[in-house]
Amino acid sequence: MPKWRFWEKDPIREQSSALPGRTATAGEPIVPTAAPPRNQTPAPERIATLKRRRDGILFDLEQSELAQQEDNPWRQRIALLEETIVDIRAERTAVDEIPRLNLPEPPATPVSIGEVRWEDPALVEITIVDRPFRFESDLDWAERGTYVSRNDLELRSGDPAAIAPAGWDGPTRERFSNRLNESLFILASDLRNRAENDEPLPNLSTLGDLIAPCPECGDWKLWGGFCPSCAERAQRSKALDDEIIARLGEISREEEERAEIAERLPVARRRLTDVDAELSALGVVL
Ligand SMILES: [Zn+2]
Repeated sequence: MPKWRFWEKDPIREQSSALPGRTATAGEPIVPTAAPPRNQTPAPERIATLKRRRDGILFDLEQSELAQQEDNPWRQRIALLEETIVDIRAERTAVDEIPRLNLPEPPATPVSIGEVRWEDPALVEITIVDRPFRFESDLDWAERGTYVSRNDLELRSGDPAAIAPAGWDGPTRERFSNRLNESLFILASDLRNRAENDEPLPNLSTLGDLIAPCPECGDWKLWGGFCPSCAERAQRSKALDDEIIARLGEISREEEERAEIAERLPVARRRLTDVDAELSALGVVL
């Protein structure tokens, strides 16, 4: 028996061949459609592409409609950002309103400058009453690449805590000795630099030259007029201001995004109409 006769008797084949123009292989969906012209496929891949596109357009449409509503995710995020800004502003105000410290004037203890040698090992001596404070640097120079880094001064002898007046309370004495320690280091570095640059050394008379109440915050200022409390406060204020600016930027980006998506509504509707028309032409019932 010729092979073709065998196929002719296959009931599935016979059924398939009864569908005019069908060339799809088994397993593909059969789309109910008007019989396309002979040799033209109903383009299932085209339909799948259009349906995927339609899903995308529906999502865009939904987002655009949402963006036009009074209550929408962008406005909700903006509301949260605005609440955050209120909190940051409150924190910022609290920094501005930190109560002024009321610290005593340092005693009029005599201070003098002793030996100052800038070459490593550097040596800077400062005497408070009869107590010497010796700053020294290490002898070795650390060579890094093309430049040589100079060793920092270190306090090798002298105890700032011993200078704090005995009549002051514990926390004030501790604050004073910490501030004096910082001030002495700045002064010693300054003296070393001046010696290196052949600049005259300053005239020191009393402890008040080294550590004095800050007119702004009431803490003690250090040598050179540097106030650690004011510096810290300025740093915190700036960080909070930067935070507010960043949140305001986020708000404006949210609003821009919302407006942009809301504006796409007519285009999304038109695209949906187009894709629906194309699907309909291919016989797809939506
Ligand atoms: Zn200050």
